Amino acid sequence: MEPLIAFHSSRRAMRMRRTAGEHSDVCSLTTMPISFLRRFLMLSLVAACVPVWAQPPASPQNGPKPKPEDTEVWEPVPKVVTPGATNAAPPSDAIVLFDGKNLDEWVSNRDKTPAQWSVANGVMTVNKGKGVGNIETKRSFRDYQLHIEWKIPENITGSGQGRGNSGVFLASTGPGDDGYELQVLDAYNNKTYVNGMAGSMYKQAIPLANPARKPGEWQTYDVVWTAPRFNDDGSVKTPAYVTVFYNGVLVENHFELKGQTLYIGKPFYKKYDRAPIKLQAHGDASEPISFRNIWIRELD
Ligand code: MG
Repeated sequence: MEPLIAFHSSRRAMRMRRTAGEHSDVCSLTTMPISFLRRFLMLSLVAACVPVWAQPPASPQNGPKPKPEDTEVWEPVPKVVTPGATNAAPPSDAIVLFDGKNLDEWVSNRDKTPAQWSVANGVMTVNKGKGVGNIETKRSFRDYQLHIEWKIPENITGSGQGRGNSGVFLASTGPGDDGYELQVLDAYNNKTYVNGMAGSMYKQAIPLANPARKPGEWQTYDVVWTAPRFNDDGSVKTPAYVTVFYNGVLVENHFELKGQTLYIGKPFYKKYDRAPIKLQAHGDASEPISFRNIWIRELD
């Protein structure tokens, strides 16, 4: 018999027996299956929960007593790198891209012929001559740490973007200004759009501060570049990130790029693997700027 039917039947039986003067204990026996079932289910639920509630919070006290050694890591052992005499000097594992002597590590961005910028007194100076243009490294890089120094001439003229404009393309992905430009420009009392000032990733990242030195003084960029990664179909797997110290001051803090830096339009990514580093010969009429002491440490 179904429990519900049994229940109603037993209730009817109870009424009949009460009428007949019978003791109600007989009736409680007949109703027992339902009440018993309810109690049983309640108790089962409580019993099921008790072990969870009763469980003490996870604590290291329950296991063996922790030791300092448990959290010590001994391998892999970092490679030994001998630092430079100063933090601006190349460490022992750096590739020196310019040491003041020659442009052996550089070629023309346009046709890959030897770079035609001038070298004198330990510095290289942009050649704004017609047909010369940007130069780039012979080598290609992915992730790296870069040190580069630059100087706006003391007699600089012009204003805004036309005052000592150059740039360090952290990855040159094609001709001209194709790539990811860390702007170089006089930023000492020189007003321009802030996402195009020195220390900016051109038109993408406003520098966090302006630590510019006066024209005529050497300035430094120390850069950590994490190249973007791409899927086979050209879509972005992971974006590019950049950290920049400008004269020792943090101006870009692990900034996530939206793609290549563009003069006009919204940035987009273009698939590449390894790329040269490129220096810009900007077309403005101001006096050409100089670079020195360029070195890089590969991080991949
Ligand atoms: Mg520029």
